Amino acid sequence: MTLKDDLWYPSDCCLIDGEWRAPIGGARIDLVDPSDGGHLCQVARGTDGDIDTAVKAAQSALDGEWGRMTAVDRGRVLTRIGQLVLERTEELARIETRDVGKPLTQARNDVIALARYMEFYGGAADKVHGETIPFQDGYTVYTLREPHGVTGHIVPWNYPMQIIGRSVGAALAMGNAAVLKPAEEACLTALAFAAIALEAGLPRGALNVVPGLGEEAGAALTAHPGVHHISFTGSVNTGSLVQTAAARNVIPVTLELGGKSPQLVFNDADIDRALPFLVNAGIQNAGQTCSASSRILVQRGVFDEVRDRMAEKYRALRVGPAMSDMDVGPLVSSRQKDIVNGFLSRANDLKIAGQARLPDDLPQAGAYVAPTLLAPVDADHALAQQEIFGPVQVIIPFDDEEDAVRIANGTEFGLVASVWSADGGRQMRLAKRLHAGQVFLNNYGAAGGVELPFGGVGKSGHGREKGFEALYGFSTVKTVAAWHG
Ligand code: NAD
Repeated sequence: MTLKDDLWYPSDCCLIDGEWRAPIGGARIDLVDPSDGGHLCQVARGTDGDIDTAVKAAQSALDGEWGRMTAVDRGRVLTRIGQLVLERTEELARIETRDVGKPLTQARNDVIALARYMEFYGGAADKVHGETIPFQDGYTVYTLREPHGVTGHIVPWNYPMQIIGRSVGAALAMGNAAVLKPAEEACLTALAFAAIALEAGLPRGALNVVPGLGEEAGAALTAHPGVHHISFTGSVNTGSLVQTAAARNVIPVTLELGGKSPQLVFNDADIDRALPFLVNAGIQNAGQTCSASSRILVQRGVFDEVRDRMAEKYRALRVGPAMSDMDVGPLVSSRQKDIVNGFLSRANDLKIAGQARLPDDLPQAGAYVAPTLLAPVDADHALAQQEIFGPVQVIIPFDDEEDAVRIANGTEFGLVASVWSADGGRQMRLAKRLHAGQVFLNNYGAAGGVELPFGGVGKSGHGREKGFEALYGFSTVKTVAAWHG
């Protein structure tokens, strides 16, 4: 089955005001299959004119049917979108697999997560309430939770469906109208999602999708004066540009950026239980995960055991084309492969503890990198400090709890951390002391839980998505004070 068989919508268009429209400038972007370097299809290269039309369509939706819809009805539409997403699980998974090189099982999990976000936010749409506030005699005071208005969503290529689900889902639940700019390498499931939303009855203009380059369509969206909130997920450098542009229009931003997330393994840890989490958190989606655990901190008493057992797992990893559904697929592009290889070329002074073998028959033009485990690595080494965004993990030894906290908190990031230890007191102490938006105790990631607020501190960003918390971020509070004597 070719990609064309799965594309039931015009994938080289923008979706604006409920209509499929060719980009105003007529330009297109060629998509490449990272598994073999072959040409996939073309997508629209939207520019400022398309963004402007999309923002105006979103505003019209707010002034029209979408803006008048009750919270209950918004929730029903979102829930219906979730059902239709699930019905198309296989098509969506195959599209994503070809587009970004994600092994099929992992792409299926992304579809299921997207459906879960729609169910969760569909159910939550009518459950965010204002308050009444006891005030001076003669007054009644209450608050209203209102949408920001037009929300801009800029999404990266690594988990397009999950990130669209958590960000667009929460924004629509609160009654905002969205303009989505997917990553240039990964627009296909964003467009598919919008097609499904229309089919489910989402009113025209409530969700608009403009594919395009970051510096063109992305920059135009962040600079547009008709946008009232920006949700950005991506790299630190681009996040900083987005925040600067938003500051010019004095609008709020949510920034979900990178990470260098540690797992701390103490001498008293249940290593049998920890082992699959230690490795999977580094190689899932070929390490291209913001919350990837790229630093494994191990207490000296179990260092050799953890290193050797992780190395054994690395040697057993199967790498192959995404459609063959191995443990690890290609990276998203040859550009990303070059970036990761660039990091590995700076690891000449480091010891490879374990490495997966790349099969001889892999397509030459595929973007493959052999998953690599480096140990021991000094906490200050560039590979222990910078986000690599590929299947590379480092193991760093530590002496005691104090040393572990110092190393764990010793990067500019703070997205996720985990603690493996049988000591309950230590678990509670470290949950407080670790700089991270999420801390996991004797697990890592809690299976992605859509209900769990997610976001970073430091250069991992600010604001929270996922869970109920996101609904507060995608709304604003109005206070009404009535004097009645
Ligand atoms: P990126 O910053 O290059 O691109 C992200 C998005 O921003 C893309 O849609 C891109 O087109 C757009 N963009 C690029 N330049 C822009 C500009 N000047 N103005 C507006 N938009 C612009 O990031 P990437 O390489 O696609 O993604 C990888 C990064 O994303 C990693 O650092 C990763 O950690 C991070 N990430 C974070 C999370 C999270 O939730 N914290 C989730 C996924 C990825």
